Amino acid sequence: MKIAALIVAAGRGTRAGPGAPKQWRPLAGRRVVDWTLAAFDRPDIAARALVIHPDDRAEAAGLDVQLIDGGATRSESVRNGLEALADQEFDAVLIHDVARPCVPAAVVDAVIAALHRSPGAAPALAVTDALWTGAAARVTGTRDRDGLYRAQTPQGFRFDAILAAHRAHRDEAADDVAVARAFGLDVAITQGAEENLKITLPADFARAETLLKGAAMRIGTGYDVHQFCEGAHVMLCGVAVPHARGLKGHSDADVGMHALTDAIYGALARGDIGQHFPPSDPQWKGAESHIFLRHAVDLAAEMGYALGNADITLICERPKVGPHATAMRAALADIMGCDMDQVSVKATTSEKLGFTGREEGIAAQASVLLVRA
Ligand code: MG
Repeated sequence: MKIAALIVAAGRGTRAGPGAPKQWRPLAGRRVVDWTLAAFDRPDIAARALVIHPDDRAEAAGLDVQLIDGGATRSESVRNGLEALADQEFDAVLIHDVARPCVPAAVVDAVIAALHRSPGAAPALAVTDALWTGAAARVTGTRDRDGLYRAQTPQGFRFDAILAAHRAHRDEAADDVAVARAFGLDVAITQGAEENLKITLPADFARAETLLKGAAMRIGTGYDVHQFCEGAHVMLCGVAVPHARGLKGHSDADVGMHALTDAIYGALARGDIGQHFPPSDPQWKGAESHIFLRHAVDLAAEMGYALGNADITLICERPKVGPHATAMRAALADIMGCDMDQVSVKATTSEKLGFTGREEGIAAQASVLLVRA
């Protein structure tokens, strides 16, 4: 599929405070427009075009993209952009607001993937807050949030379909999905992201700056202990290892997986297992620990990080871990959706010293490195 990215940057953005229009303002060492264009500089996007206000030609000089003059309204600007691209035989176009410079690659990936199945696809987040109506700083009513979404961009379409839709739609529209739907096009909803914020108000610059300056790597450590109890096996790193005893715990007591999960939460500075899955909550009684690990990995992805590597040490006299280490690495890699060579599981005894030496329980420690996705 030959895909174009059409970045709409013709607005004046008066709500973002005094000064140059927001797209030309500095943000984390570059300009807003530079970050946004960079997000679409990818091998699966054949061309990038920028719709600008005719007064902004000087600001746009030197950008290595096709420049198109915008119109009086956003819809007109998009239409101008589509017309300018019309003879270049694109199969699809991603229409994106320049004011969303932090768009994660995964959001763009999902829109492109959905375009193989649907004439339109756009990212959104389900509304999770309660909704009120209000007037004069007083609540006047509530609204049902079921089925409500916060729309984001890029909004992707089959090229010919959205061009025809824009040619047929001469009124101003909220966004390109509205234009597409007015033309009868089906639009799939794909996963949006909180980081994909739209810079609208002055305070949004600081938020975007924090996101864009986010560390390239984050490191975390975890430690956990579980006591032996009666039983015939112990769960260690996702593998049921036969043993004369079991491990006591609120969940399945997988001490290795708990240490690893805490290391990920630690790297993200997002608390620990106990905060996300309180032992006081009966719904986690006997829970399989892969639920916790998957949650931590998903949270990392939401914050823009993927696993670099993880290293886990199990500390016990028995059972012997070595014969099961490969199966443990495979189980953890499967849960985390990574390769086995990103996961190490090793073991040590404590020379019969201390509680692990006396075989009262098993301890585990883990280190992880998260890398920016
Ligand atoms: Mg534990």
